[in-house]
Amino acid sequence: MIYSLNIGSFEGMKSQNQSTILNLIRLKEPISRAEIAKLTKLTKPTVGALVSELAERNLITEEKSDTAVAGGRKPIMLRINYSAYYVVGVYAAAEVIRVILTTMDGKMVFDYKKDITELPSKEEFIEMIKSSISYVMEETNVEKNLILGIGFAMHGLVDPENGIAIFSPHLHLEDIHLKEILEKEYSIPVIVENDVRALAIGESWFGQGQEISDFICISVGRGIGSGIVINNEIYKSSFNTAGEIGHTIVNINGPRCQCGNHGCLEAYASEIAIIDRAKRKLQEKKDSVMTETELSIPVIFRAAKEGDELAKKILVDSGESLGIATANLINILKPTKIILEGSIFEEGDILLSRVRDMVQKYTIRSSKEEVSIVCSELGKKGMVLGAVALVLREMFKVGGLQ
Ligand SMILES: [Zn+2]
Repeated sequence: MIYSLNIGSFEGMKSQNQSTILNLIRLKEPISRAEIAKLTKLTKPTVGALVSELAERNLITEEKSDTAVAGGRKPIMLRINYSAYYVVGVYAAAEVIRVILTTMDGKMVFDYKKDITELPSKEEFIEMIKSSISYVMEETNVEKNLILGIGFAMHGLVDPENGIAIFSPHLHLEDIHLKEILEKEYSIPVIVENDVRALAIGESWFGQGQEISDFICISVGRGIGSGIVINNEIYKSSFNTAGEIGHTIVNINGPRCQCGNHGCLEAYASEIAIIDRAKRKLQEKKDSVMTETELSIPVIFRAAKEGDELAKKILVDSGESLGIATANLINILKPTKIILEGSIFEEGDILLSRVRDMVQKYTIRSSKEEVSIVCSELGKKGMVLGAVALVLREMFKVGGLQ
C-alpha cells in the first residue's frame, strides 16, 4: 500500500531521497548534513537542497552544535519538528469510541471518549464516529492541512488494504467502509487496521517493540487477539485475518465460543469468560467471598489476593490456557518478545506468573533462545496510540511520501 499524501502540506513531496533523509533524521537526531551525506551516499549539494525543502515545510529544526568538528567549526544539527503537524487516532472498541489528537511524537493534545451504551445500527455507528472526530477537531481548532492523517484501530475483522471493517463480533456490524466514508467527510488520508495489529504497530513505535524486529502482542479484553511482527512488518496474511489466537483451540471438549466452535482460548481466558465462569461457580453455591452481583475483573483479582480459593483457581486456570496458546505460538514463530496487553495483566501477578510457567514448560528452545514476556506499558491508550502510529509509520516510511 502506498500512502497517498496528496492533500495538504505534503503535496509535491515526491522524492524518495527526501523521505529517506526525513527518516534518517528521526532515527539519528541530532544529525548534521555532512553525516546524512555520509550515511545515504548522496552528494552534499543534493542533501543540502533536500534538507532545505524539509525546513521550508517546517518538518525539521536546525540548531548549532555545542561541540566543534575538526577545523573548529560548529555544525548545524537537524531534528524533527514534532510539534509542527498533528495526527488523529481513533479506536473503536465494543463499548467505547476514543479519539485523540497528537503531535508527531504521539504527545496527546486532546483525548475524547464516547461510550457505546447500546448496540448501534451501522448508520448510528458511523454517525458516532464522525461526530467524535469532528468534536475533537472543533475543540482543538487545528488547521486541517496540519493534520497528516487519521489512523483508525477497529476491533474485529478488518481489511486494511481497502479500509473496511469486515465484521465486528461485539457490535454485530459488518462491511463498514470506514476509509471511504471518512476520507470523503474530512479530505484527510485515512488508514484503517485491526485494533490488535494497530497496537503491535504502536508498541513498535512508542512501546516495548521499539528496535525489535520480531515480536507478538497478545491483547486480552472482551476478546483475545494478537498482532504478529515479523522482520519489522506486521503479518496479515493474504486474507488480512492473521493473528486470531483467541480462536485457537485449547480443549476440543471445552465451552462454546462466540465463533461457534468449542474450547477456543477466548472461551477460557477473555474477561467475559473469566467473569462468566465465576458467575457459574457462584450459582453452583461454591464457597467464596465474591458475590454474583458485583463480579468484575478487579473484584476477582482482589478476592484471589485475599486468599479466596475459587477466585485463585479461576485465574490460575485462565493463565494456564493463555500460557498453552502462547507457548504454541512461540514454538511456531519464535519471536524474541511477547507483549501482553489487558487489565488481567495489570491487576496482579497470579495469572501472569501462570502464563510464564506454562511458556517455560512447553516451549522448545536452545539455551541461547530467551523469549521475554512483558506487559505493555502503554496501558489503556495502547490501541489509540497504535492508530496514530499507523499514520506515522507511513509518513516516515522510506518511499512512503509519494
Ligand atoms: Zn472461537
